[in-house]
Amino acid sequence: MQYPEPITKLMDSFMKLPGIGPKTAARLAFFVLDMKEDTVLGFAKALVDAKRDLTYCSVCGHITEQDPCYICSDPRRDRSIVCVVQEPKDVIAMEKMKEYNGLYHVLHGAISPMDGIGPEDIRVPELLKRLQDETVQEVILATNPNIEGEATAMYISRLLKPTGIKVTRIAHGLPVGGDLEYADEVTLSKAMEGRREI
Ligand SMILES: [Zn+2]
Repeated sequence: MQYPEPITKLMDSFMKLPGIGPKTAARLAFFVLDMKEDTVLGFAKALVDAKRDLTYCSVCGHITEQDPCYICSDPRRDRSIVCVVQEPKDVIAMEKMKEYNGLYHVLHGAISPMDGIGPEDIRVPELLKRLQDETVQEVILATNPNIEGEATAMYISRLLKPTGIKVTRIAHGLPVGGDLEYADEVTLSKAMEGRREI
C-alpha cells in the first residue's frame, strides 16, 4: 500500500529518531493525524524551541540555556573533581542523586572502533585542555558499564596517567551492559562511593 506523501514525509521524520522503525513510524504518523491541530502545533513548537533555546555548555558539554551552564558557573561546586559521563542525560541522573558536588565533563559518546568512533570524535581533546590548568585533582570516569564505556574509561585513564591526576572508575554496582541514566539513585550513589583508582 502506498501512503500519501505527507504521511511518508512524517514517517521519514519519525524514523530519524532512535529506536523507531517503519512500523512504529506509521503508527505515530497516523496518531498525529488524529490529534487536534493546536496539540500538533504545540508539539512542533516544543521541538523547535528546544533546539533553538538549548545549547551545549562550552566548558562541560552539558545542555544549557546559558553558557556556561548552571553547574559550571556555580561557585559552590568543588572545582577539584570532574566526573566524566557519556551523555547530558547522565549528568541529570547524577544530579538527581544530590550527593555529588563536583563538576562534569560530557563526552557526547564513547569510543567504539566498530562504529569508527575514536577519541577525537568525542570530547576527549576538550577534557585534556580543561585539565591543563591544574585545578582538577580527581577525574571520576562514570562512562556506561558496557564495552564502549569501559574502553573509553581505559583510554582516558591511560591518557591521564602521566599527569599525576587521580583517576577513579565508578564501582560495578551498576548492571553490566546497562546505561547510567537508568540506574536508580541508590545504585548510582553506591557506585560513586565505591569508586576505585585505576
Ligand atoms: Zn557546564
